Amino acid sequence: MDAARFRDLELAPRILLGPGPSMVPARVLQALSTPPVGYMDPQFLEVMAEVKVLLRYLFKTDNEMTLPISGTGSAGMEAALCNFIEPGDSVLIAVNGFFGERLAEIASRYGAQVDRLERPWGEIFTPAEVDRALGKKRYKLLAMIHGETSTGTMQIQVDEIAAAAHRHGALLVLDTVASLGGVPVDVDGWDVDICYSGSQKCLSAPPGLAPITVSQRAVDVLHARKTPVANWYLDLTGIIRYWGDQPAYHHTGPANMIFALREALRLVVEETIAAQTARHRANAELLWVGLEELGLPPLVPLDYRLASLTTPQIPDDIDEAGIRVHLLRDLNIEIAGGFGPLAGKIWRIGLMGFSSRAEHITLLLAALQKALD
Ligand SMILES: *Cc1c(COP(=O)(O)O)cnc(C)c1O
Repeated sequence: MDAARFRDLELAPRILLGPGPSMVPARVLQALSTPPVGYMDPQFLEVMAEVKVLLRYLFKTDNEMTLPISGTGSAGMEAALCNFIEPGDSVLIAVNGFFGERLAEIASRYGAQVDRLERPWGEIFTPAEVDRALGKKRYKLLAMIHGETSTGTMQIQVDEIAAAAHRHGALLVLDTVASLGGVPVDVDGWDVDICYSGSQKCLSAPPGLAPITVSQRAVDVLHARKTPVANWYLDLTGIIRYWGDQPAYHHTGPANMIFALREALRLVVEETIAAQTARHRANAELLWVGLEELGLPPLVPLDYRLASLTTPQIPDDIDEAGIRVHLLRDLNIEIAGGFGPLAGKIWRIGLMGFSSRAEHITLLLAALQKALD
């Protein structure tokens, strides 16, 4: 093997304005390069304890079971479902985009009887229709997406939906991979049972961890299982033994990722979660105004438009793919296209975490203006 074949890793630095990952601040990269220590090193256990406290601040919860799952956002999805589903359980999945589809797929692989509550891509659910659907049979859980990254919607009235779920004896699973840190999320205030996210979207850490928080109501359901969790690696009853009071080995904690997440969360605390979500909103509004001026109005009505991901509609006579390639190749700017029923019809522009900066919007709008001309 000729070592000269593999050159130094030198990638063009990109301005990441897609649906994730977002740009990672230097402080987080620096923490990432801290030499790892053993998974039972008292110093590392101290870091883990701090991360749990920081995550509770982020999720706005007092839930004891709050920790980062080793894996990307999809591992969070999987953990949120596999721990609470036993074969034959009936679950209701709200599907209004790509990630809702993924929830339904994962739930069925764990042997759930999956019923789908559907809305076209780009719409959201009303508490009344969710309540009606939950009344049709005894569901163990309802799962839905807060910020649907395939369409740019934000589910609103989550507190009323949680209340409906609890009236019918179901747990509420909420995916906040694209929304946590970018828009207000209030796990205890809304009474969400299982809520998870991802490190690489509005938290601006590298991809690889999925923060999750689990209510006492859901912990009780977990402990009442008759069958073992079908996924060994994501079994929270095992993971909590490592993250709990008397740590014991479960799997090697991905130390560097946890260092990076800790630093990203320290940045959130310094800015405050309220100021961070306000910044995402203010920058999103700048983008929305600029897109309207370019004749690219956002697909999603203002009432339920996601601040961390905007989906402008692209007129038919515009070569949307060509413009995306030009932005990336010539300007190092990444945005994404639509897919599924929205393929070719929208772009997906993320302003997540450290990427949510006014100068990025100025740059992008100028580049789009020029490309459209
Ligand atoms: C990105 C995303 C996921 C999946 O996360 P990965 O890190 O790609 O595994 C799940 N749900 C939503 C809403 C997302 O935006």
